[in-house]
Amino acid sequence: MPIDLARFPRALPSIPPDDPDLRDALHRVLDRVDVRRVIAQVRAEDAHTIEQQLLLASTPAPPFQEEERGRLFARLLLEAGTDAPRVDEVGNVIAWLGGEGARPLVVSAHLDTVFPVSQEIQFHKDGDRWIGPGICDDARGLTAVLALTRALVRLDYPPDIPLLLVGTVGEEGVGNLRGVRHLFGAGGAGENARGFISLDGAGVNRIIASGVGSRRFRAVVEGPGGHSWVDWGRVNPIHLLARAVAAFDDLDLPAGTTLNVGRIEGGTSVNAIPARAWMEYEVRSESEGHLALVEGAMHGALTSVVQDGNGSARPDEEAVLEVDRIGDRPAGTTSPDEPLVRAATQATRALVDRAELAASSTDANLPMALGIPAITLGAGGEAGEAHTPREWYRNEKGPEGVLRALFTLLALEQIDP
Ligand SMILES: [Zn+2]
Repeated sequence: MPIDLARFPRALPSIPPDDPDLRDALHRVLDRVDVRRVIAQVRAEDAHTIEQQLLLASTPAPPFQEEERGRLFARLLLEAGTDAPRVDEVGNVIAWLGGEGARPLVVSAHLDTVFPVSQEIQFHKDGDRWIGPGICDDARGLTAVLALTRALVRLDYPPDIPLLLVGTVGEEGVGNLRGVRHLFGAGGAGENARGFISLDGAGVNRIIASGVGSRRFRAVVEGPGGHSWVDWGRVNPIHLLARAVAAFDDLDLPAGTTLNVGRIEGGTSVNAIPARAWMEYEVRSESEGHLALVEGAMHGALTSVVQDGNGSARPDEEAVLEVDRIGDRPAGTTSPDEPLVRAATQATRALVDRAELAASSTDANLPMALGIPAITLGAGGEAGEAHTPREWYRNEKGPEGVLRALFTLLALEQIDP
């Protein structure tokens, strides 16, 4: 069956309805003199916050080489008022606020960028936009964690909920979530966490409560190769991969699931039967079960295409298929009924009116898949062209990103003391 495009985009869980009790309780907290003073301080410190964002963004953090930015982030966390930060076995920077405690809430941003060591990192201002690689993703999130920490220190937080502040490694593609895997794994600092908030990128309206998972593969087909005229009829690895791609397109995908062949290459000459061809492909879904289902279907299609292609070929002239998994990001969802989603929704409404639930692929995927309530929030401002050297950030509603995280924690205390 062809892919039914009418099924996209898919329906997300709906946003929690307005909760008058929580709204009133939050407003009473926001009216406290000490809280009003801290809100004013967050706004007043906006220029300093932008300076820290530029400083963090200027410190390189290529995949698997996050140490330098990690050291800077640890120093800035300490300055912001946390207990002495430490770096765990994989490179995550971890700091408690006001002492260690059981069942912490984890607030984090990711240290790594997509840019290789060779990428020149420079920023310039064009009108009201800062432009340069990594200016927002996720220097903005790290900066918001620092500004949030300063605000919480002034409020003598945490009275009830132990708080763990983290800069994670390995959020971007090739990192394969290795930072949060370790953090929430056996013996990790977040193993018994009550919840997880990731501050990632810009924005103030969206609450990511659904984690789009992915599985990524590389398939290699090898055959005897040969002359395109003399050896006509031998198995052709490129033709086999092309048939497999066509078979992928014919799969009947479940709703909320996509697939993509992103790279394909092989052969040496237009007049030679290639001896080797490969492709890289992925399936994405909000459902872990659907990931497994489509992975099985794709693998089945590839295997039968190669088997059919071998047909009556001599055993020493058969094509050989090898498939390797090159990425695995679990899928998961945090229910709109969870205190964390309710708190973030009410906090967003208190600050900017409109709250939206969204699906994306972030550090929160991992705790979601483990059953730990997790959300990802934008850290304020507007941004675009992420993952390119043209990435930009505009500080429209920048402080609101910090305040939304703060209000979320304050609202959470009203639900989940
Ligand atoms: Zn990011």
